[in-house]
Formats: sequence, structure tokens, C-alpha cells
Amino acid sequence: NEQSYRWQRVLLKVSGEALAGDQMQNIDPKVTMAIAREVATVTRLGIEVAIVVGGGNIFRGSSWAGCSGLDRSSADYIGMLATVMNAIFLQATMESIGIPTRVQTAFRMSEVAEPYIRRRAVRHLEKGRVVIFAAGTGNPFFTTDTAAALRCAEINAQVVLKATNVDGVYDDDPKRNPNARLLEDLTYHEVTSKDLSVMDMTAITLCQENNIPGTSKPSFLHALCSCWRWSLKRDFLTGL
Ligand code: UDP
Repeated sequence: NEQSYRWQRVLLKVSGEALAGDQMQNIDPKVTMAIAREVATVTRLGIEVAIVVGGGNIFRGSSWAGCSGLDRSSADYIGMLATVMNAIFLQATMESIGIPTRVQTAFRMSEVAEPYIRRRAVRHLEKGRVVIFAAGTGNPFFTTDTAAALRCAEINAQVVLKATNVDGVYDDDPKRNPNARLLEDLTYHEVTSKDLSVMDMTAITLCQENNIPGTSKPSFLHALCSCWRWSLKRDFLTGL
């Protein structure tokens, strides 16, 4: 029964970091399969799932800019191409377990994937297909977090769910600081003023302006069920 769930359409942000798992390679197939299985579970409930993939496991523009004369825009285009690789890997994994999937890229790569067309993306979702948005926003100087917030607003998804390696948002890096505290409930303002690195400022501002709640967890299902939002207290996907 679709009516019993809090969210009908969700935007899952899969960071490159999450795809890498604890592997030495860029992508851990165990991770893509785990994501695919969770997505399958969620779509079977009748919840529409759109995904924005990151690319940091392969290439992050900001950390390469400046090296050997690489300007930021060129570096960022390489970063965006990295997200396309992740998207195709994720698509292939999902289709291998029978989830109908479309990849849409923010710039044209028509032999590889569909171009991003908002209304077509929405139609795919309505038909029960998972839509993977690749190449971020298509613009250098942005991130895939911002792409997630943007696409979420565009397709009227109700929440941004961020799948990362950490089990929530901490007030410090839990890997480096054992005393870092898990923050259960946050306002957009707290995220920006405390410089919490859950999402960058542009992305958070976009979420705030459009009143998009979000959560960050290591698993998609966990994120769906968690009660943490950027701004509002407690929310559940009832029935899961
Ligand atoms: N990128 C970009 N514009 C966008 C999205 C991404 O230029 O709209 C580039 C940027 O270089 C970024 C890279 O793509 O470092 C990979 O994306 P991101 O770092 O957001 O991936 P994640 O951190 O989620 O793995």
C-alpha cells in the first residue's frame, strides 16, 4: 500500500566514497550490489527512486586542479565524467537483478545514456524505473551534492537521502576524533554555521530554500527509516 509510506519519491545521493567501500579499487561490486538490493526493496514498496551518483572515488576536480597546469574547469569536467562511469556501473548492477533503470546525463553522451530531460525522468519514475542522474549539474565548480539538491527540487522528490560511509552526521570527523558526537537533528543553519561537512554550502542552501529535508546514513534503508532531517524533527517511513 503506497499510501502508508511517508515518502513517495526519494532522491538517493550515492557518494563516490560510498561506492569505493573499503576496497583498493575504485568501485566495490559488493557495495553496488548492496545498493541495488536496497533500491529493489524500496521500489517494490511502490516508492519511486531517483539517484544522483558522485565521482570522488575516481576523480575529484578540486583536489586535482592546479596539478600540471590543470585548470579547475577541466578538472571538474573529468570529475563529471567519473560520475558517468559510476552511474553505468550502478545501472548494470541494478539491471542484473531485474531493476529497470535509466541513466540521464547532464551533458549529452547519447551513445551511452539519455540526456537529462526533466519530464522524461519523471515519466520513468512514474513507470517504476529507477533514474540515475550522472555528470552532476553539468557545470564545473559544483558538486554532486548540489546536483542531488537540484534534481530533488526539479523532480519534486520529497527528501534527499545521502548514502556515505559514516552512520550519520557528526560534529567532527568520527574517524579522526573518537569523541565526535552523532547529531540526530539539525537545522540547515546549524549545518552551514558549524561547517558540518555532510553537504557543501551550495547544496544545503538549495535544500533550505526549497525546504528539502535530508538524512545521511550508511545504508539507503537506514536513511529512509531514520528520523533525522535537515530542519524538522522526527519523520518516519511508516510501515517499514
Ligand atoms: N563535478 C562538477 N560539477 C557538478 C558535479 C560534480 O564539476 O555539478 C565534478 C567535481 O570535480 C567533483 C567531481 O565531479 O569533484 C565528483 O563529484 P563529487 O566530488 O561531488 O563526488 P562525491 O563527493 O559525491 O563522490
